[in-house]
Amino acid sequence: MVIIVGAGLVGSALAVRLSQLGIKVQLLERGPFAKPTAKDGINDGRTIAVTLGSKRFLEKCGLWHDLEPTSQRINYIRVFEQGFAWTLDYDYQKLGSEPMGYIIEFDRLTAALYDAVQKADLVDIVSNCTLQQLVPGEIICMEHGVFKAPLIIGADGRNSWVRGQVNIKSKTREYGHKALVAHFTHEKPHNATAWEVFQPSGPFAMLPMVNAADGKYQSGVVWCGPKDTNWETIPDKDLEQKLIEIFPFYGEVKLCSKRWIFLLSSLTVDQITVDRTVLVGDAAHALHPIAGQGINLGWRDVADLADLLEEAKNLGQDYGSQYLLSKYRKKRKFDQQSLYFFTDGLTRLYGLDNSLVSFVRQTGLAAINKIPTLKKFFMKKAMGV
Ligand SMILES: Cc1cc2nc3c(=O)[nH]c(=O)nc-3n(C[C@H](O)[C@H](O)[C@H](O)COP(=O)(O)OP(=O)(O)OC[C@H]3O[C@@H](n4cnc5c(N)ncnc54)[C@H](O)[C@@H]3O)c2cc1C
Repeated sequence: MVIIVGAGLVGSALAVRLSQLGIKVQLLERGPFAKPTAKDGINDGRTIAVTLGSKRFLEKCGLWHDLEPTSQRINYIRVFEQGFAWTLDYDYQKLGSEPMGYIIEFDRLTAALYDAVQKADLVDIVSNCTLQQLVPGEIICMEHGVFKAPLIIGADGRNSWVRGQVNIKSKTREYGHKALVAHFTHEKPHNATAWEVFQPSGPFAMLPMVNAADGKYQSGVVWCGPKDTNWETIPDKDLEQKLIEIFPFYGEVKLCSKRWIFLLSSLTVDQITVDRTVLVGDAAHALHPIAGQGINLGWRDVADLADLLEEAKNLGQDYGSQYLLSKYRKKRKFDQQSLYFFTDGLTRLYGLDNSLVSFVRQTGLAAINKIPTLKKFFMKKAMGV
């Protein structure tokens, strides 16, 4: 048996996978653990870029069947800097017949994981719990007393309670940015293309979605800008006009959802394991959403940790042994650190408004686009394979 604290997209996926592998799980969630419901149909409007690697992981967990009908393929990715001609184009056919990834609505992922957790034989869900204290192998909960297991897994997000209890230090980097997330219908088809536009005020992503219920073409926007941008109050018409100015390729656009605002920062920790405790997902690393990789990275933590726990189960070993913890640390280090430096570096590089830096950025984009091996390397990174 292991304890997972936090039933977000990462903790729930880990619980489902471990149950599949025959490992008992106690999943502790401070919230109600329910399917997303909202009066207007959408609770959290994020449109999540799920890499091909993550799609394969979700397949392994038995989740893909439910998700596929509402997943939009990403066949092409186009990146450019506003005001400059050079673009970086990724085309899935350069690497085979599978798409580069999928766009799936956050609520649909949450609902699919909720159903899978409910069906998982070996997962005991404890919701609405107030955790009070953690000592290695033990958690005290106000409502339910003491939970014990040889391993405690912190999947409780960027402000992780587990991380605080075991005194793992973290460092937060503020970007002075917030992101507007919203959905727009548009006149022209998106052709399964995900766009990233770099502007001095912050990156802007236009992510293809499955058609709206009335058949209209639809995309999700992640629009990053300074904290004082008036996204909460700007009238719909003006917002649509601003969007067309940045992104004129889809003809007329219409806001078709409410607006969600996220303050943006990233977070690193000085270690991801201590005595009988490990961190996964945003509890271990939180990234700027510039490259849409946060959950994908969290699911890779989950896949690696599940493999190690399966091995320990088969060999009859302790789930919280120093040996297992150190293997988990080694397996995850490069992926976590390199992706953090990449997304943080990219955010800061494109935040600099200087003609020399702009020339370097343009040359970099052109070089990646023109050198096939370099291009394939970056394509595979984006696809998580
Ligand atoms: C605008 C935006 C766009 C994004 N787009 C993408 C994208 O396209 N692709 C991508 O891969 N990533 C994306 N991300 C990142 C992604 O959303 C996060 O990486 C991911 O949601 C983190 O999941 P998690 O389960 O680790 O943490 P969380 O979602 O924070 O879940 C933590 C869970 O733990 C519970 N919890 C917290 N404290 C306690 C406690 N004390 N006791 C019990 N339970 C507790 C919480 O209630 C919650 O259920 C985006 C992020 C933003 C902000």
